[in-house]
Amino acid sequence: MSKEELEQLRAELKAAYRKYQDMELSLNMSRGKPCKEQLDLSMELMDILNSDSDLTCEDGTDCRNYGVLDGLPEAKELIGAMMENKPDNIIIYGNSSLNVMYDCISRSYTHGVMGNTPWCKLDKIKWLCPVPGYDRHFGITEYFGIEMINIPMTEQGPDMDLVEKLVSEDEAIKGIWCVPKYSNPQGYSYSDETVRRFARLAPAAKDFRIYWDNAYGVHHLYDDRQDQLIEILHECKKAGNPDMVYKFASTSKITFPGSGVAALATSLNNLEDIKNQMKNQTIGHDKVNQLRHVRYFKDLDGIRAHMRRHADVIRPKFEIVERTFDEQLEGLGIGSWTVPNGGYFISFETLEGCAKKVVSRCKKAGVTLTGAGATYPYHRDPADSNIRIAPTYPSVEDLAKAADLFALCVKLVSVEKLLEDSENK
Ligand code: PMP
Repeated sequence: MSKEELEQLRAELKAAYRKYQDMELSLNMSRGKPCKEQLDLSMELMDILNSDSDLTCEDGTDCRNYGVLDGLPEAKELIGAMMENKPDNIIIYGNSSLNVMYDCISRSYTHGVMGNTPWCKLDKIKWLCPVPGYDRHFGITEYFGIEMINIPMTEQGPDMDLVEKLVSEDEAIKGIWCVPKYSNPQGYSYSDETVRRFARLAPAAKDFRIYWDNAYGVHHLYDDRQDQLIEILHECKKAGNPDMVYKFASTSKITFPGSGVAALATSLNNLEDIKNQMKNQTIGHDKVNQLRHVRYFKDLDGIRAHMRRHADVIRPKFEIVERTFDEQLEGLGIGSWTVPNGGYFISFETLEGCAKKVVSRCKKAGVTLTGAGATYPYHRDPADSNIRIAPTYPSVEDLAKAADLFALCVKLVSVEKLLEDSENK
């Protein structure tokens, strides 16, 4: 387009933008929260137990009382099936997997990993962070003063050439954040080759651990398009690295976020190490909630059926965003976006240097997005191009408007950038 054409287009887009401002929208798409209809799906969980219920679990434990450090056997069975791990490899925790991840890093800091030097006694600790990634992961490592190193994501998972090289060379690298299935925010799932390469890593640090956050293990959007991964614990064992992975999951986005059940799966050696800490930390987690979840779902099929109902609620939300982007932005060369088969997010790439401006434009017209940069360690997106879109919370009608506004803001900011670039030439 000529400069004049661009200026004309800018004027038209600005006029359309002003119309949006007049609508006084107030929508929040900043966090990956389930919407009310999704939460309503789990209300029967509240009816499963009442004052007449027998709260004795299968091994005879009275769940109303103290005890059972690492979780009810039937909860290990159910969550183990969901995580594709044996009950023996599972610890059931409280209500948040993020809390478990924090705890693992905290324990490694103060007491070390399986007899290795506590990290607090080492000069420097480093961590690999596939980007874009989950802001709260980066928040934990930043809080502990761990130096975070960006690893570019691909559609197959993190850049494994770089991961292999860095972990084998640098003993200060103690871990990596991974969201292997329907990653946050791109919705990518690691390929078989990526998982195999993870299992075969040869880290310089003996206490290097893969933080395998399987937050979206059963969160498919479609019946006929479901990503499947190779199971990492099993693969690590086969590769002679049985202790290299901590795998996390929870029922946060299955039942009630903040009131679900969280779990960790790992090798028996790691479990022993962790339980040595846990026994000083708690007498036991919330067994009543574990029992409630087990009696509600019964088995993995129960979870799967429930997740299909979630998918029915949120699939149209993903699709309206994708359709709007297709209609408004396809082929313009000013942005690209992911089309995931599951999870909670769509990831959008603007032209370089445009993400912050797009987020700010949306905000000024009443739509709050996740802050630009949040998907990178230290909130620093070097290209200022990634925006995380969380479509689950608003209604389909609101999303239609929000996606339309978003596309408009992408166009406007891109045109402004092109004009700016042409002036600087
Ligand atoms: N991991 C990832 C990748 C997530 O996206 C989320 C929720 N946004 C969590 C963990 C949080 O899990 P929890 O509620 O179990 O702490």
